[in-house]
Parts: sequence; C-alpha cells; structure tokens
Amino acid sequence: MSALSELYQEIATCQRCDLAKDRIRAVPGEGSENAEIMFIGEAPGFHEDQQGRPFVGPAGQFLDKLITSIGLKREQVYITNVVKSRPPGNRDPLPAEIVACRQWLDRQIELIHPRMIVTLGRYSMAMFFPGKSIGKIHGTAQKGDDVIYYAMYHPAAALHQQGLRQTIEADMLKIPSLLAEAKAMGEVEPPPQQLNMF
Ligand code: URA
Repeated sequence: MSALSELYQEIATCQRCDLAKDRIRAVPGEGSENAEIMFIGEAPGFHEDQQGRPFVGPAGQFLDKLITSIGLKREQVYITNVVKSRPPGNRDPLPAEIVACRQWLDRQIELIHPRMIVTLGRYSMAMFFPGKSIGKIHGTAQKGDDVIYYAMYHPAAALHQQGLRQTIEADMLKIPSLLAEAKAMGEVEPPPQQLNMF
C-alpha cells in the first residue's frame, strides 16, 4: 500500500476533533501522487461528506472547469481541504479543528511534494499567507524554498457573487506560467566541470 493510501486510512478513522462525530465520511483528498499543483480548499460540504471526495458539489464543478481552462484534467492535480471532515451545517471550521487537522495536510504536502500550492479561499490562504487579505492578494504568488504559493478566491465565491467569476477565471489562467517558473526554480544546477589541473 502506498504511503498516501495509508494516510487516507488514518484520516478516515481520525478522532482528533469533534467533527468526527457528525461526519458521514472523512474526505482526505484525491488526485495524482505526482501532481505538480495542489489545490487546498476549506472543508467538505454536504456532497463531499456523502461521497468522501473533495469538491464534488457545485463549487467542485466550477473548480473542474477552471482546471480544464489551463489544459489539465482533475486527475493530474491534487485536491484537498484544510479540514478533512464536514463542519455541521457547513459552518466555518473552528481554529481548534484547523489545528487538529493540520498534521494531515502537512503529510500530504510532504508526500506529494507539489511545485505549486494554490489556496482556495480565506482559510487555506491564512495558512500560507498569514495576516493577508484575500481581496488584496488573490492572483498573487509567493516563493517558498522549492514551491510557489498562489492565492485564489474560493470557487464557491463565484456562485454567490457572479461578479467574482471573471476574477477567479483570470487568476486561474496565471497558473501555467507560474508553474513553469516554479519548475525552473526547482531544477538542480549541474555540478561545475572539474578542471584537470595536472
Ligand atoms: N468547499 C471546499 O472548500 N471544499 C470542498 O471539498 C467542497 C467545497
């Protein structure tokens, strides 16, 4: 069994916070183990809780379209959330729930080792862009050691505020060139030629 599948089993039985009591299924995440891009949303909603898969409801349908718009298939990227169990009534996740779940996200990042981490919405943004506001930094990137972090509005925002749809679509279209930059950044420089002095 792969390390990622083992992790999914651990998440499925996780009892680290009270969200475990109300969930139907935990939603670890899904996608390619070799994904170059990892999308991180907020928390599973009704449909995700039923199916145990991330972003399968209306926000997920929009996310699928956005992924297609940059020439990728959903299976080529990795999709997960800050918290892996549905908060009752789709309320916002509580700080303690986010802290309790953080270790799972950290392990996913370690195992998948994406070149780009795309935060969807305020909660995942807060993890990688602390103190920033989504209205100001959406569509902007920040370089880490060997990864680029990129902040976007949550796809559900477009469902509530039609005006944000175009902004989200435009922000998505910046991803391919940032990914190319991230890959160039991660390329190991060839060792210098050894000079034969004698
Ligand atoms: N919203 C999220 O943040 N995540 C999902 O998986 C679905 C909706």
